[in-house]
Amino acid sequence: MDISTLSFLHHVFKEVQHKQDWKTALDTLFVSLRDSFVFDNVVIYLEDPRAKSLDIAYARAMGRGKAAEADAAWGERVASDVLSSKKMVMKEPRRGSHEQNRMTQPHLLGMPLSIASKVSGALVFVRFGGPEYSDLHFQIASLQAFWAAALIERRELQEARAELDSVQRQMRLQDDFVSTISHELRTPLGFIKGYSTSLLRQDTKWDDATQREFLNIIDEEADRLTRLIEDMLESARLQSKTLQFKFSPVRIDALVRDVATRVNTHHPELKIEFHLETLPPVLGDGVRLSQVFENLFSNAIKYAPGSRLTIGTKSLGKRVRLSFADKGEGIPEDFLPFLFERFYRVPGERTVTGTGLGLYICKQIVMAHHGKIWVESELDVGTTFFIELPADPTL
Ligand code: ATP
Ligand code: MG
Repeated sequence: MDISTLSFLHHVFKEVQHKQDWKTALDTLFVSLRDSFVFDNVVIYLEDPRAKSLDIAYARAMGRGKAAEADAAWGERVASDVLSSKKMVMKEPRRGSHEQNRMTQPHLLGMPLSIASKVSGALVFVRFGGPEYSDLHFQIASLQAFWAAALIERRELQEARAELDSVQRQMRLQDDFVSTISHELRTPLGFIKGYSTSLLRQDTKWDDATQREFLNIIDEEADRLTRLIEDMLESARLQSKTLQFKFSPVRIDALVRDVATRVNTHHPELKIEFHLETLPPVLGDGVRLSQVFENLFSNAIKYAPGSRLTIGTKSLGKRVRLSFADKGEGIPEDFLPFLFERFYRVPGERTVTGTGLGLYICKQIVMAHHGKIWVESELDVGTTFFIELPADPTL
């Protein structure tokens, strides 16, 4: 091999290696070597071990106008021959066939793709017309097969790593959740136990007002426990998709007002401003949608204390959009992508309690309505949650 070939290969190798996306890397690989090895189509077949079939993982047409996918059928026989023999397979047209039949007389060359030391795919080149494949072509094709297999392996590793990252994150969240939840359960239990023990003390006589105050605290803390347990059950049901929804036409603007009134009786300090457009009804579960709004109100109270909450509704033809905007501290951008995950809470000093289930529940409910929920936030400016739901299609 001479130095110029070597430096050319080196250059190609670098180019291919730099491409992040495996399909673009394959494009570069095949295009760069096409001067020395001419073909019209190239297809990668990968074995699907479960379905026991060959899937087209990549296809590209280089010449002669035909679509790569349509031509991929040419290579399927060759690909299965490669997989069963684990060797290079070549199918040349019969000698002496007519030049005008060129498009029905492909030269096919199949190379085994060895992924994780097992032949589990085939790289098939198709060429219409031209001379027979030479030794040099075989060498180049085998080099490309080797390279393509490495790229596919890299893709599989990347996918596996992404999956592992998400599982690890979920496990960390579950760990945090156990400590959060024990704290969350203990706090109300502590109150209930403390105040009921005080009331039961034989040696102390509490006046009526104090008794009422203690009983009120016990009552509220018991409610808090119930809510917590309901949230946990709800999120488990939502995750296992066993929660039942009862859909009927719902007037979102009226519903959000009702929830706001209810929230205000418990939290008169929350100032709510409405910018409501009249909306077409949506097909929804009113109870579940109220739950979504309740969590958004509760978050505003907890994480943007003292701020006014502005609620807007907008009709977008076939969809309706709601927005809940506070003027709180905002959420750093890095944390925004995780907000709707189960158990996720923005890390940092914590004074407010919570389990990180609220927004997860919101998202699952909105998704069950074929809608979407998202957040925009700017530090020291505020946070806005948006919800979009499809309008009732039967009306
Ligand atoms: P739960 O709702 O289960 O009681 P939570 O409020 O901590 O607990 P989510 O409602 O899922 O859980 O919210 C997740 C996190 O998002 C919160 O812990 C908080 O850090 C952040 N967050 C939510 N809403 C706001 C907001 N309006 N402003 C700033 N941060 C917010
Ligand atoms: Mg919440």
